Amino acid sequence: MARRLAVKSPMTLDATKALVLFSGGQDSATCLAWALDRFSHVETIGFDYGQRHLVELDVRQPVRDAMMAAVPAWKSKLGNDVVLNAGVLGTISETSLTRDMEIKMGEDGLPNTFVPGRNLLFFTLAAAYAYRRGIGHIVAGVCETDYSGYPDCRNDTIKAMEQALSLGMDVNFILDTPLMWVDKAATWAMAQDLGGEALVEAMVEETHTCYLGQRDQRFDWGYGCGTCPACDLRAKGYAKFRAQGNLS
Ligand code: ZN
Repeated sequence: MARRLAVKSPMTLDATKALVLFSGGQDSATCLAWALDRFSHVETIGFDYGQRHLVELDVRQPVRDAMMAAVPAWKSKLGNDVVLNAGVLGTISETSLTRDMEIKMGEDGLPNTFVPGRNLLFFTLAAAYAYRRGIGHIVAGVCETDYSGYPDCRNDTIKAMEQALSLGMDVNFILDTPLMWVDKAATWAMAQDLGGEALVEAMVEETHTCYLGQRDQRFDWGYGCGTCPACDLRAKGYAKFRAQGNLS
């Protein structure tokens, strides 16, 4: 007698729910706003990987709180925040984000802020978490426009990752990257479109971008050292955004 094969019921993920890779920076906070505008339930996930500056982890809750104050309608949609330990990255990589080194270009043509495999690991951990929570969308603030040449921010990498994670867990994940083709000025403009001037102010005041972890100086675009590549990009983007605003 032929034995019947057990029919596996496919796991279904909820396409109205999203998990945002959230660092407390401007890009991921804008992605959180983008997700809150579209999905019925949004959670955030972050990673502690031995960053040189824990300020990134410290600003998570203040950023979330400030965004909810700016757009109270989002409060009922915002769910859990979780920070996973990804300390193994700090163990294996010698980069200026995990060690006290000067930021410069390496022989591979990439800045030494590049942590090999970092985003790939983050997506994998986020997908494992989303699977357990039944969440269908994973949102990340990766971007090819200002991407410093990081190969794990490329659209091709994200599409391959989406396929690998969906195949490997036998589900249909959607990886959303709303900033992929957007420059820093347009990222500010996106925040303004989604949550008005109150959300722009929340981004300025609470999100953190500076590579050196400094928050003692306040510029019109927020807190930072004002000179590192991340501050420079943020400052120029903000100036361009405000200049465009004045023209319209
Ligand atoms: Zn800086």
